[in-house]
Amino acid sequence: MTKGGFVERVNTVLGPISTDELGPPLIHEHLVSGFAGWQSDALSAPYDREAIATICSDALRAAKAYGVKTMVDATANDLGRDVELQKKVSERSGVNIICATGLYMEDLGGAGYYKFRSQVFDTTTEIHETFMKETTQGIGDTGVKAGVIKVATGHGCISTYEEMVLKAAARAQKDSGVPIVTHTEAGTMGPEQADLLIAEGADPGRIVIGHIGGNANLQYHASILDKGVYIAFDRLGIDFLFPDTLRKACIIGLLGIGYANQMMLSHDYVPYWLGRDSALPDSVRALVPNWSFIHVFRDIIPALKEAGVSEDKINTMMVENPRRLFAGG
Ligand SMILES: [Zn+2]
Repeated sequence: MTKGGFVERVNTVLGPISTDELGPPLIHEHLVSGFAGWQSDALSAPYDREAIATICSDALRAAKAYGVKTMVDATANDLGRDVELQKKVSERSGVNIICATGLYMEDLGGAGYYKFRSQVFDTTTEIHETFMKETTQGIGDTGVKAGVIKVATGHGCISTYEEMVLKAAARAQKDSGVPIVTHTEAGTMGPEQADLLIAEGADPGRIVIGHIGGNANLQYHASILDKGVYIAFDRLGIDFLFPDTLRKACIIGLLGIGYANQMMLSHDYVPYWLGRDSALPDSVRALVPNWSFIHVFRDIIPALKEAGVSEDKINTMMVENPRRLFAGG
């Protein structure tokens, strides 16, 4: 809440907590997610906040049993973020929830509004104002302040719209101190995201480049890490996008050559999809049997230990790095 330097408190949906109380957090997850346009589907399930809260609270309680204290809900403003739901789920599950202010990538998010306005107005400034309002004053009249800024880019390129959002986010990071969490498409454009954000004034120590486990190119991963940012292997369990076996190999390799201080693990799990048929069909569910809020703790960490990764390095990834991301230093 102070600009730069050390920050001792971080905003959750139920109010500020000490950065020492965060860990271990899950750095990139969701409660609900709905790609722009889901409201246009006449057969979308009605939005039943109470029922959705039960589904999400049950999923988070399972994570709490594995020691999870906090989850960062990286859902952007245009992908179904619901602060009232987040508050309800945090109260019921006993897990802290840090919510995001942010905008998703152009092709699947709600880009239309700002793209239209950009013909006439300075929308980089307008988006910066939105991010600042939500991180420093609160979201709508909920009194809840966003604790991260979410940005996203498409596959193999950063569109003009996405560049505008990243610039606004970098300026808001600098002005508010709040960290940036990114979505990359299959891990592409990670170095470009980092360069753009840093050039616009964001602190590399307050940036997490996400979804890096979309490829197994260690040279590519190291090229992002060498910019001083964090990277997140935050789609563990989504084997049909990229196999966990190779993600684990990358994590073990990067830990082994000294990057423990810049890595985080998470799932990008979504317990409830907005639109029709929120439950995945069995055929799809069969492709992601481990995708949940608990996979990292139940399966990945034991596998890393089995491969010789020390308790110390696991603690650095799971507790220390997220603490430093929010606290600075
Ligand atoms: Zn996500």
